Amino acid sequence: MEDNENTLKALRQEMSAANEDIMTQLNRFFSISNRIGMVKDRMGLPHFDPVRESEMLKEVLLKNRGPMPMHIMQRVFMEIFKASVEEMGAGTRRKLKVNRFPGQNSTVIDADGVIIGGARPVLIGGPCAVEYMDQLLTTATHLKSLGVHILRGGAFKPRTSPYSFQGLEETALKMLKEVAETLDMRVITEVMSPSDIGLIEQYADILQVGTRNMYNYPLLKELGKISKPVMLKRGFMATIDEFMLAAEYIYNGGNEQIILCERGIRTFETQTRNTLDISAIPILKMETPLPVIVDISHSLGRKDIVLPIAHAALAAGADGLMFESHFNPPMALCDAEQQLDLTEAENLVRYLKKFYEF
Ligand code: PEP
Ligand code: MN
Repeated sequence: MEDNENTLKALRQEMSAANEDIMTQLNRFFSISNRIGMVKDRMGLPHFDPVRESEMLKEVLLKNRGPMPMHIMQRVFMEIFKASVEEMGAGTRRKLKVNRFPGQNSTVIDADGVIIGGARPVLIGGPCAVEYMDQLLTTATHLKSLGVHILRGGAFKPRTSPYSFQGLEETALKMLKEVAETLDMRVITEVMSPSDIGLIEQYADILQVGTRNMYNYPLLKELGKISKPVMLKRGFMATIDEFMLAAEYIYNGGNEQIILCERGIRTFETQTRNTLDISAIPILKMETPLPVIVDISHSLGRKDIVLPIAHAALAAGADGLMFESHFNPPMALCDAEQQLDLTEAENLVRYLKKFYEF
């Protein structure tokens, strides 16, 4: 009895020492694999190399003399390899240029005197699409009187159906500029194709990338070369990491004036058009220095809950809100159900003014 207890105690001590050896060797392994990851980053090579991994596994198994069975040894090594590739990825995630480094000030964007990412939240409003002069002017005049300083309106519309209204293109751009100049507002409008950037730049103060184009890397690369701010909307199927990597494409081209826009992601929920990912707001604010805007129209697709959601978005740290508004929503050529009429827009802004200054 006494003997068994002593033996068990000794074996346990040996086991603890073995654990320490394993730990030391695992740390050695991870330090090597992180260095490999850095060299691969410099060479532009992927971290995961299935051929090299199976060679390493073969090497180990050939030398294994037991008593650990081959299949268990294989399982353990495969887990270690997998974890090391994940860790290499974590290293690069932290190294993005759009990541906030400790103590870094937030990016403040000056759109010709209208500040985004400053002390006060900013309001961006306007119709889904520019339709005709009276529609734009009537809507914009009312919004401006409420404290909306940035006018939105689609000139090039990314419609799901090719048979839906596609936008008035340059005619709409001209109307946006004229109305904005009359009312001292700034213009934001969507760009869908690299070949339209030059044209849109002549009329808009901020260029918007829509949700469908977040993965359009040739477009993002070209927007990296311009000197106007870009508002990048989150892809409706994109993770936050993919969203930040898309912003990195713009940043890499030299354009650091990027505004991130959370506009909801597609989930199984059907009560709202998309699911607004409220947690993305503080995460993006922590992980990047960039201003974050929340689109309360495309995320919800309905008007009856905009007040609490707008309030929640600002409370979560958003630097501003975007909403669609039309002086006569039932007659709107697109997104009629989510565009606020002038009274609804006024109610929204009045409600928010109880808590925030614009
Ligand atoms: C828009 O803001 O006009 C738009 C089409 O939004 P999203 O790209 O988020 O659908
Ligand atoms: Mn719309």
